[in-house]
Amino acid sequence: MIISVASGKGGTGKTTVATNLAVSLDEQVQFLDCDVEEPNAHLFLKPRMEHKETIWAPVPQVDEERCTLCGKCAEICQFKAIVVIGETVLPFHELCHSCGGCVEVCPEKAITETGRELGVVERGHRNGIRFIHGLLRVGEAMSPPLIKKVRSYAGPESITIIDAPPGTSCPVIAAMNGVDFVLLVTEPTPFGLYDLELAVGAVRTLGIPHGLVINRSDIGDDRVRMYAKEEKIPVLMEIPFDRAIAETYSIGRLMVEEMPHWKEKFRNLYKDIAQLAKGK
Ligand code: SF4
Ligand code: SF4
Repeated sequence: MIISVASGKGGTGKTTVATNLAVSLDEQVQFLDCDVEEPNAHLFLKPRMEHKETIWAPVPQVDEERCTLCGKCAEICQFKAIVVIGETVLPFHELCHSCGGCVEVCPEKAITETGRELGVVERGHRNGIRFIHGLLRVGEAMSPPLIKKVRSYAGPESITIIDAPPGTSCPVIAAMNGVDFVLLVTEPTPFGLYDLELAVGAVRTLGIPHGLVINRSDIGDDRVRMYAKEEKIPVLMEIPFDRAIAETYSIGRLMVEEMPHWKEKFRNLYKDIAQLAKGK
């Protein structure tokens, strides 16, 4: 069972839900923090890190001695990441999507691959939970390859919980693709509703069963609930706006540790998810 915990916008409590769900379950769990631009699940789960690996993306480098300036590499590149300017061929590594097309088409075998650092992947454990996260290099714009690398370390544990990046663009798709269930965390505000609608559109395009958690459920208005009802999206949990929960979060602690009655609620949340995922 692979569950991706996602949200249309940041700051909705996605990591709170994902981490508390992970520690509430009795089954073997692995936790993948794929919010690689701003990973913070480790602040709550506090895993003991055992491995750290720098991840590189292959990018082209040109041997000017062999290059005849034919322009075939620039023609095939869809991202304008390699161009012929005057008497030279210039690769722009930050724009490169590492497709290898230019290497393939070069008739002179003048292009080889070098590496652009994407970031690091760290792996560790916390009380039986296997933990993996990625940290995108500052200034790096392309997070999907790093997210895919984090996911490639998923082991045979029975339950995988993915903390997905916020939004609805390529990074979140990389964190949702192929999962069994997407748990969308939102808040009952106009901004929350707007971003939720976009997120639901993305999940439906991928054809993944999904449900909602409404965080800070007693602020704002009823439009998120009305939308969920109209669209037949099950609301699986509501978390009220509670000072004690906010304080727990602010000191890097988990709700289920400080307020044990939440543990049962998160277990029930998992049961509902398992039921809905089974019916897919
Ligand atoms: S590897 Fe692909 S994206 Fe990168 S420069 Fe070559 S053709 Fe363009
Ligand atoms: S395809 Fe090869 S030979 Fe042609 S311009 Fe590019 S690097 Fe030079």
